[in-house]
Amino acid sequence: MQQVIEKLLILQDRDHRILRAKDHLARVEPERQALQSRAAAAQAGMETAKAKLKQVESDRKKLELEAESKKQQIERYALQQFQTKKNEEYRALAHEIDTCKASITELEDRQLGLMEEAEAIQIAAAAASREADEIRKAADEQLKELAAREQTLRSELTGLEGNRDQLTGAIEDRALRHYERLLHNKGDSVVVGIQHGVCGGCHMKFPVQLMVTCQAEKDLVTCPNCGRILYYTPDMDLAVAD
Ligand SMILES: [Zn+2]
Repeated sequence: MQQVIEKLLILQDRDHRILRAKDHLARVEPERQALQSRAAAAQAGMETAKAKLKQVESDRKKLELEAESKKQQIERYALQQFQTKKNEEYRALAHEIDTCKASITELEDRQLGLMEEAEAIQIAAAAASREADEIRKAADEQLKELAAREQTLRSELTGLEGNRDQLTGAIEDRALRHYERLLHNKGDSVVVGIQHGVCGGCHMKFPVQLMVTCQAEKDLVTCPNCGRILYYTPDMDLAVAD
């Protein structure tokens, strides 16, 4: 194998590892955000349930006060009844008292309804609170793992990129420029074998002459179709597979 090809393959292996590390790093932040928003949604669900419970309790309290004021009204009417000597006025007050009593019954019924509602909400709120706790705990754990993974990837990437120039420095300029341009445009394997007589990148079938030139290992040979740098190793079968 030509020395330049050997060096390019080593560089390519390094670049693949760099790209992989970058790819994994790029997924860290979305994953972190997904975990955080899941925990936030669970928290919000719990807070909504608690706020609803508070509202129901305050509604019930209002009804209770209303009923209380009706009871005081009845006491005032009863006192007036006691003081009056007119039958007509007495009857009118008795009617007012009956109306108040009916209102109180209705207010108490509504209070009972709200108490039942509050009980159901309380159960739901407790469940939502437990769920939010569990999700928070799991998310914290996963966020910790994620931070550790990110740290590992960052130091791995620093290591991989750190001495990359030692690899590029050993490669002749023209070949390196060609390689860099291909890597930039294609972003995957750009130094490829001619196994089975086709380009390892774009799979175009090669003319015999090109394979002969490649086997001669004198010049840098590129694919006429995609421009990838081609190489040959003796273990390659150059017969075109059907
Ligand atoms: Zn090709």
